Amino acid sequence: MDEGEHTSQAGESEDSGGETDDPFTTDGDLDDPPSSSTDHQTDPDRESIDSTGSDITVGTDDGTGSDPDTDGGTGGDVDTEVTTDTDVDVGSGGRDRSTPDVDFDGVVLDDEDENQGLFDDLLSGEPIFENKEVLRPSYTPHELPHRNDQINRMATILVSALRGETPSNILIYGKTGTGKTASAKFVSQELESTSQKYDVPCEVEYINCEVTDTQYRVLAQLANTFIEKNQQVIADRLDRCRELRSEATDDPGVLATTEFATLDDLDARIDELETDAEEMEEVPMTGWPTDRVYSTFFEAVDYHERVVVIMLDEIDKLVEKSGDDTLYNLSRMNSELEKSRISIMGISNDLKFTDFLDPRVKSSLGEEEIVFPPYDANQLRDILQHRADIAFKEEALTDDVIPLCAAFAAQEHGDARRALDLLRTAGELAERSQAEIVGEKHVRQAQDKIELDRVVEVVRTLPTQSKIVLFAVILLEKNGVHNINTGEVFNIYKRLCEEIDADVLTQRRVTDLISELDMLGIVNAVVVSKGRYGRTKEMGLSVPVEETEAVLLSDSRLGDIENAQPFVQARFDN
Ligand code: ADP
Ligand code: MG
Repeated sequence: MDEGEHTSQAGESEDSGGETDDPFTTDGDLDDPPSSSTDHQTDPDRESIDSTGSDITVGTDDGTGSDPDTDGGTGGDVDTEVTTDTDVDVGSGGRDRSTPDVDFDGVVLDDEDENQGLFDDLLSGEPIFENKEVLRPSYTPHELPHRNDQINRMATILVSALRGETPSNILIYGKTGTGKTASAKFVSQELESTSQKYDVPCEVEYINCEVTDTQYRVLAQLANTFIEKNQQVIADRLDRCRELRSEATDDPGVLATTEFATLDDLDARIDELETDAEEMEEVPMTGWPTDRVYSTFFEAVDYHERVVVIMLDEIDKLVEKSGDDTLYNLSRMNSELEKSRISIMGISNDLKFTDFLDPRVKSSLGEEEIVFPPYDANQLRDILQHRADIAFKEEALTDDVIPLCAAFAAQEHGDARRALDLLRTAGELAERSQAEIVGEKHVRQAQDKIELDRVVEVVRTLPTQSKIVLFAVILLEKNGVHNINTGEVFNIYKRLCEEIDADVLTQRRVTDLISELDMLGIVNAVVVSKGRYGRTKEMGLSVPVEETEAVLLSDSRLGDIENAQPFVQARFDN
C-alpha cells in the first residue's frame, strides 16, 4: 500500500511506474509491455495497451506471461528467471482475476465504471508488511545492537564539545554495512539534543563526501550552512535589540542592566548587526577561487563562540577524487580560529586510505581511531530481528527467514545493509506472489535477484573493450565450448571488433581484461600449464548467460552486431 510513495533507488533509472518501487518488478513490467504488445495481433488491444501506459503490466502479464516466446524474442530484455516465475505466480495466484484482458479493454472502451479493479486484488490480500520503510537504508534506527562499544567511544571523545572544549579528531574505519553511518548519525543527534538541553553552543555538520566530493563543494556547503545559521542568530539578536530600543525610548533607565551605556551604543550595535547580515554572502556552487570560499567559511564559523564537529562520511572518496587539501586546511584551522573550535570526524570504508595522506594530516586526523568490525551471522540475526519486529505483521515470517538472511549477509563480509535488503526483497517477493507469509523460498529468490542486479549493474558499466571480450566468452560458451582458452577468446574478440569498427587490442591486453573480469566475479579463469607450449588461461562464465548477453546487447555499439553466429561457427568448421 505504501509502495507508491517511495523514491527510486540508486541505479534504477527506469523506475517510473507509480505502482511499484522495486527494481525486480519494474524491470520485468516495464520491459514486458512493448514485447507483449507486438504479440497482440488486434489493433484494439494494442491501442488499449498503448493508451494505458504502464498500468497494463498486470493485464499483459496474465495474458502473455505463459508464452515462452515473449522473453526470447525481445533481445535487449533483461528479464530474470525470478521475474518470470513471480510474474507467473502473480497471474495464476489471483483466484478471481480470470479475465484481466477483458478488464483492460474496458479501461479504454468503457468510461462508465469508475475503476476496473486493477489494484483491488493486489490490495485485497493480507499485507505482509506493517511498515516497510523500516527496512530501507534511509531509515535511522533508534537502537543499534552490537555497536555499544563504538558508540560509547565516540560519546566519550565528543563529550568535550559539551564542556566547551575541542574534542580530538576521530577516524572511523570499517567495511560497508558495518553500521558506521548509522552510529555516527545516532551519536550526532544525541550530541545536538544534549547541547540544546544544556544550552551549550555545539553543532554537528554531516557531509557525505561521495556526493560532495571536491574541496570547493565541501567548503561551500559548510560555509553556506554556517551563514544560514548565523543569519538566524543575527535575526534573533536584532529582534532583542530592537525591542530594547523601543523600551529604552520610553524609559532610558532600562539600559542600566544591559551592556549598552547609552542609546547611541545600542543604535551602533543595531547598525553593526544589520551590516553583518548584509555582508554575509552565500558561496555560489562554482566560480569563486578556493581561498575565497575557504575564508568565507572561516569567517562564518568564527562568527560566534561554538564547537563544531564536522562529520565527513565516505572521506576516502573525497581523498581519492580530490586529494587531501581539504583535510589539511580543516585540520589546521583551530590554530587560527578565535571564537570557535572545530573537530573532524572522518568515516572511511577503506582501511588503508590514510596511506595516501600527508603525514601531518594523517596524524592530526587519526588522533583517535575507532574500528567497526564486520558483523557475524548471530549479530546480523539480532539486527534483523529488531527491524523485522517493526517492519512486518505478526507471524509474517517463517522461523528460518531471519537466520537465512543473516547467513547470506555474513558471507558478504557481514554487511547489515545486504541483510536488510534481502529481508525487504524477500518480503516484497512474497507479497507479489500473494503468499500469506514469507518463507525460505522467498529469501533464496531474493538472494538470486540481488546477485543478478549486481551482475547486471557491473556488466552494464564495463568499458566497451571489456564488453567485447566478455561477449566473445559468451559466444563460445553458447556454442558449448568448455574450458575456453585465451586464444579462442582473442580470435572471436578480433572478429567482433572488426564487425563494429572497434580498435583491436593486443592479446596481452585482452588477457589483462580477462583478469579484470575474473576479479569482478564475471568469469572464472584459471592458469593452465601447457608444458613446453607455455601457459594459458582457461575460463568459464560465472554469471547467467542469457541475462548477461542481454545486458551486453543493450549497449548501442554491441547491439550493432547483427548476427555473430556465422563467424563463431566458422571457427569450429575450420
Ligand atoms: P556503513 O555506513 O558502515 O556502510 P550503515 O550505517 O549505513 O553502514 O548501515 C547499513 C544499514 O544497516 C543501515 O540501514 C543501518 O541502519 C543498518 N545497521 C547497521 N548496523 C546496525 C545495527 N547495529 N543495528 C541496526 N541496524 C544497523
Ligand atoms: Mg556509510
